Amino acid sequence: MQVPAYIGRFAPSPSGPLHFGSLIAALGSFLRAKSQQGKWLVRIEDIDPPREVAGAADGILRTLESYGLHWDDSVFYQSLRLDAYQQQLDVLLNHDLAYYCQCTRKQIQAMGGLYDSRCGQRNTAHSHGAIRVRNQTQSDHFYDRHMGMIRVDNHFAKEDFIIKRRDGLYAYQLAVVMDDIEQGVTEVVRGCDLLTSTVRQIDLFTLFDKPVPNWLHLPLLCAEPGRKLSKQNHAPAIDNHAPQASINAALQVLGQSPVETHSDVTVMLQQAIAQFNLATVPKQQEIVLATTT
Ligand code: GLU
Repeated sequence: MQVPAYIGRFAPSPSGPLHFGSLIAALGSFLRAKSQQGKWLVRIEDIDPPREVAGAADGILRTLESYGLHWDDSVFYQSLRLDAYQQQLDVLLNHDLAYYCQCTRKQIQAMGGLYDSRCGQRNTAHSHGAIRVRNQTQSDHFYDRHMGMIRVDNHFAKEDFIIKRRDGLYAYQLAVVMDDIEQGVTEVVRGCDLLTSTVRQIDLFTLFDKPVPNWLHLPLLCAEPGRKLSKQNHAPAIDNHAPQASINAALQVLGQSPVETHSDVTVMLQQAIAQFNLATVPKQQEIVLATTT
């Protein structure tokens, strides 16, 4: 049997421009894919219009290009996949693998913050509210290729989590898994903010009877402990016209040797690919920026 080729991806949400924190995930996933002679895909996760900023998706793509982070195949947009998400939800509902839930945030808080499946036990057929998956797999751990064995709280693992929101928007967990399947992703490389989400995603891969990809989480850049670097908390801006310095700064965060400055960034990236060493990427889940500058 032919061993499938490596397919990696970078999946930004267009909620603002690409900043230094997101550059780490972009560059890290690119270097990992290219050092495996793999494909590196870009997917715009634009399924949450209230959080989107007009022009951000194009801005992110232009920044990636100016950093020499050229993607393979064409850019994939989640906003073009809504029919597929709905069809999958209908299948799950028809097979009683998902159910509608009318519980409010307040009620869920009163349950201790994790949902107790009460709407799933009722016989009355509702057809409005959020949609939750009947969580049968209940994964509570996984092996991360960089962070090692990751375990999550047992109650969290058991939760029937949301796959369509009350406001009618498709949930990240559903879309990300369906699209990683659709794009044939073999390894998910991203920041540690999504570490615990991974067990939800394993539940869905299993439910859909699809092979689970490998997982590799990179340290997350934080403004302060527990607070992801974002444009709201002064992520250093990255300059589309002078990417050289930011590339070396990002390589430093990723524990990689610096590359020679060159007017052509693709030359710098070729060197970074050749030198890429996963073993020297820091193992901590968070890096507070002040300690790196
Ligand atoms: N769209 C997510 C984000 O920007 C990333 C999703 C993923 O890599 O799985 O945080």
